[in-house]
Amino acid sequence: MARYTGASCRTCRRENLKLFLKGERCYSDKCSFERRTYAPGQHGQNRFRKVSDYALQLREKQKVKHMYGMLESQFRRYFYLADRAKGVTGLNLLSMLERRLDNVVYRMGFAGSRDQARQFVRHNHFQVNGRKADIPSFQVKPGDVVTLKEKSRKNAFIVESLEAVARRGVPSWMELDKGNFQGTVKAMPNREEITMPINEQLIVELYSK
Ligand code: SF4
Repeated sequence: MARYTGASCRTCRRENLKLFLKGERCYSDKCSFERRTYAPGQHGQNRFRKVSDYALQLREKQKVKHMYGMLESQFRRYFYLADRAKGVTGLNLLSMLERRLDNVVYRMGFAGSRDQARQFVRHNHFQVNGRKADIPSFQVKPGDVVTLKEKSRKNAFIVESLEAVARRGVPSWMELDKGNFQGTVKAMPNREEITMPINEQLIVELYSK
């Protein structure tokens, strides 16, 4: 399973936005974005740069791609599927990204970041509707129940994440039953609750060229 293995904080600085890729560290004063608010690289501190429409679209796509931990080919495939599905392409794309199992595990609060959630899923800590679910890209649907396996309930990282869930909050399209270590997907994702500043239309324009 291919994934981005470069420096995560560098991507936040490149996109000029906190992408919350490193769990607890993102909320601490160790956050690189807080300490160095300029883009990485030799020319990162150049103040006056012309930004073309293409550059805007590209940066938007890169931002969302990094946010959900995708590589280009995976992301392009999501766009292809979103474009073919009924409805508005940009919203379809976000909905598919939100319904990935690793994202759902993160949003429910079982993990501090999507990267960590992906690892938990790969390491077989979760079940969906009582069945094995170790594929991070698995698409959940309304009514699905995500459960932390009995043997994983003492995992210190998961326990720590669940304790910190109040800070992030759980979106209204899902419900967390902390006591029983399980969450239910109640509805399709709600656009209003994707609070990160995303302009999905720019991604549609980029890929429609
Ligand atoms: Fe981004 Fe988190 Fe790194 Fe801060 S600590 S720069 S929010 S990944």
